[in-house]
Amino acid sequence: MYGNVAIDGPAGAGKSTAARMVAERLGYIYIDTGAMYRALTWKVLNSGSRWDDEEIIRLAAVTKIEFSLDEQGGLQTICDGSDVSREIRERNVSANVSRIARIAGVRRRMVELQRRMAAQKPVVMDGRDIGSFVLPDAPHKFFLIASLEERTRRRCRQMEEQGIDFDRSQVSADIKARDEMDRSRTVAPLVQAADAKLIDTDCLTLHQVVALIIKEIRG
Ligand code: C5P
Repeated sequence: MYGNVAIDGPAGAGKSTAARMVAERLGYIYIDTGAMYRALTWKVLNSGSRWDDEEIIRLAAVTKIEFSLDEQGGLQTICDGSDVSREIRERNVSANVSRIARIAGVRRRMVELQRRMAAQKPVVMDGRDIGSFVLPDAPHKFFLIASLEERTRRRCRQMEEQGIDFDRSQVSADIKARDEMDRSRTVAPLVQAADAKLIDTDCLTLHQVVALIIKEIRG
């Protein structure tokens, strides 16, 4: 076994798809930590709760978030027993998730769940702070980047596949705004871990990114 794999980077850099494929190739569990913050955001938006840090932290503590695979092997995000995989990609969730992810008490809860998942079986975990904070001892760390244009193109394609309506310039503006919030927040800002390998995915196909990661892992 090669040990845990951490894949971080900004929104739309291709982390999730690459991470899922790497996990499949290694026979590891894939954990999409962004989906966990999104699931909590979806719950907050739909629970009629006050938009208040203490209330959101309380909700985070009682929210059950799990992953399962559908019949085609696609990752399903289950929040309190309901499949919310589609809902968590909606614009309203994307526009609010960074506000929730900057709350220290929310992060404490999510990091605890993420570390618990990684302690059970080897994982490929993707997010913003995996290599730098959640799994600092992971032997394999990658930081994926891509230009804003390329990230917009990929996000639009993903939404198209999921049957979600979108406006391209809005998607681009949303990605930019989310990145700024993720990079500038004081709690767990998006940074490349010192020992992470940087991969610029702009000129690489998904298969090339996956092959590069696997090659690095296998040494
Ligand atoms: O990866 P994805 O774009 O789905 O993540 C959604 C949001 O969740 C990010 O913009 C970020 O605010 C937050 N996030 C985080 N830490 C992680 C994963 C995601 O703060 N490890």
